[in-house]
Amino acid sequence: MELLGVIGNPIGHSLSPVMHSAAFKAVGRSALYLPFLVEADQLSQAIYGAQALGFTGLNITVPYKEKVLPYLTELTDEAEAVQSVNTIKFTEDRIIGHSTDGEGFMAAAEYELGYDFRGKTVLIMGAGGAAKAVTAALLNKQCQVYITNRTLERAEQLVHSLNRFGTQLEVVPLNSAALEPVMDEIEVVVNTTSVGMAQNLGQTPLAPSLLAPHQLVIDIIYNPEKTQLLKAAEQIGCRVQNGVGMLVWQAVKAWEFWWGITPPAEIMYQAVKASLS
Ligand code: NAP
Repeated sequence: MELLGVIGNPIGHSLSPVMHSAAFKAVGRSALYLPFLVEADQLSQAIYGAQALGFTGLNITVPYKEKVLPYLTELTDEAEAVQSVNTIKFTEDRIIGHSTDGEGFMAAAEYELGYDFRGKTVLIMGAGGAAKAVTAALLNKQCQVYITNRTLERAEQLVHSLNRFGTQLEVVPLNSAALEPVMDEIEVVVNTTSVGMAQNLGQTPLAPSLLAPHQLVIDIIYNPEKTQLLKAAEQIGCRVQNGVGMLVWQAVKAWEFWWGITPPAEIMYQAVKASLS
């Protein structure tokens, strides 16, 4: 039996075990996927221990996506670009880090909406790890990207770290006066902040009055399935998408990295939705 798992802290909320386990069952793969709560000072032991025990791979979640880098022998181009790893593959003598967050984001919109991001103008709200992965994937599709964030310096750092992709990346302060002039050209609005989750359930990361019906609004939050931002955007007439798809497709892309095969995405969607409800 193959062994896999997800490392994070906290980890109890992770939907990865149910998602991967449902897909193993559906395709008859003999594999076990477990959640592992790991303390920060034991991260290296956890990685090397999994290697010693013959694990096939691991997923890495908050807060270790960047902290895990020193323990890897190599990074894929995707992980190198964002200096973040959410998927590890063990071989006999190598520990390879990969990032499927950006690919997962793109694949979800393509699968659920048939959306092609190529050349689109996108506003990203947030400048954390998820924002970086999504932005790098969008820049690879020749998108023009505006970044807005509560902490402006963090948005500037993000732009600086991705500036090798070219000049289609700009920071806009997170206030209506600064955002209003660019909103006309925005085709896609993406929330990568945690605003809208349990601790600030009824809030939106930007004033809904800035949205227009022609825009696609994506919130990568998946719990709740419909954030206040998505509710407001729907009322305005925008197409909307939540974060369930990104969650599923980053896992699909992890299978492709571990085994070069595509798992049944629909089974993974069902497992996530059943857990959320
Ligand atoms: P992170 O690195 O901690 O970044 C958090 C971001 O949210 C920062 O830009 C932060 O702004 C902003 N923020 C937090 N509280 C805020 C507030 N009260 N007002 C305005 N901005 C606020 O986290 P992350 O890893 O990027 O994850 C961000 C979100 O994406 C989480 O909700 C996570 O669940 C979701 N996510 C979903 C998927 C998926 O598969 N669907 C994958 C990854 C992440 P400052 O810089 O000003 O602090």
